[in-house]
Amino acid sequence: MSRIPGRNFLFVPGPTNIPDRVQRAMVVAMEDHRSSKFPELSTSVLEDLKKVYRTGDGRVFIFPSSGTGAWEAALTNTLSPGDRLLAARLGHFSHLWIDMAERLGFEVEALEVDWGEGMPLGRVEEVLRADTARGIRGILACHNETSTGVTNDIGSLRAVMDACNHPAMLFVDAVSSLGSIDFRMDEWGVDLAVSGSQKGLMLPAGLGILAASQKALHSMQSATSRRCYFDLADMIAANATGYFPYTPALPMLYGLRESLDLIFEEGLDLIFGRHHYLAQGVRAAITEGWGLALCAREPACYSDTVSAVMVPGGIDAAHVIDVAFRRYNLALGSGLSKVAGRLFRIGHMGDLNELMLMGAIAGTEMAMLDVGVGVRPGSGVAAASDYWRSNDRVPKRRTGRAQQYYSGHSTGTVSG
Ligand SMILES: *Cc1c(COP(=O)(O)O)cnc(C)c1O
Repeated sequence: MSRIPGRNFLFVPGPTNIPDRVQRAMVVAMEDHRSSKFPELSTSVLEDLKKVYRTGDGRVFIFPSSGTGAWEAALTNTLSPGDRLLAARLGHFSHLWIDMAERLGFEVEALEVDWGEGMPLGRVEEVLRADTARGIRGILACHNETSTGVTNDIGSLRAVMDACNHPAMLFVDAVSSLGSIDFRMDEWGVDLAVSGSQKGLMLPAGLGILAASQKALHSMQSATSRRCYFDLADMIAANATGYFPYTPALPMLYGLRESLDLIFEEGLDLIFGRHHYLAQGVRAAITEGWGLALCAREPACYSDTVSAVMVPGGIDAAHVIDVAFRRYNLALGSGLSKVAGRLFRIGHMGDLNELMLMGAIAGTEMAMLDVGVGVRPGSGVAAASDYWRSNDRVPKRRTGRAQQYYSGHSTGTVSG
């Protein structure tokens, strides 16, 4: 295929768009990662990631891997073969983590859930109450199930565990929520929180990031699962002096330093607010504009980082995605495994604003029309525009102020 001019519109839910500042920060000459200067970089990013996780006494680990590596690190460092886990299979990513746990030799009780629904807290509670022998060692929860666009309420899950007085460790996949959707490691009593670099942290894929509570770190002493590359003990020993047990991904660490600076400049709470506001506009386009359904069933679990859109019967969602890509240079996320062909996904995570999303909404609408989805031209854009124009998050941008500004600086007459 010949080159399509202009920017590729990247709206898959990871990798996300990389801010120019982050991209520039990664163009560095290689350095000696055992120099006396290197620890400045490594300790600063490890400390600052704790703020993003909102943990005080937890510890953060960075592996040169993708998020999947951090899933493995979380399991093998804290569990022994045969240990029992409880999980809910509510989408592709929760399924993959369950599958990994089984392949690593743990016994997983997986609650089957219709894709589009959230964590079944009532069923979790029943299982925990029935576990009088306290044999369940951990609960696996996916904070934001990227395949269905469902966000689970981890604070309520913690409340259920506490109400049952159950000592299981809480393992949370925060890959597509950390840095985009409110995440509170300490407040929610999360023991292991997995993330990666290419979603809310606005970097390329290549870092597996893990945060562990003191309870999780303590469990390493009795956990007999085989581990080597992902052994947290080696990492703790090397990190103590600011180094890594093996060669770190240096440009990624410089990029991470810059992305953390960007995150703190905007402020975590404002970032979460921006994601919600942008997501609301996208949802207005999908449901009000196009009259299509989200895969997520309940508004309470709508994800602020990704929307999974069900296509009407007789339409192949993969066709929409392919036309969007080939004809309009727009990358949308596909339906994974069980929902392949039935939905496409619009990522709204990371370095984004209204007009970038308008491009994605307009392109999606055009691709849908091209393959025969009966949406009204312009309807998605109009619905998003209505939402964003009437819910401006930043008062100083209101038109009243702008008119004042322009009239104050003009020659005194309003020119046509
Ligand atoms: C992207 C993603 C992963 C997988 O991460 P990789 O970096 O691709 O290994 C895991 N869980 C969720 C929820 C994700 O969105």
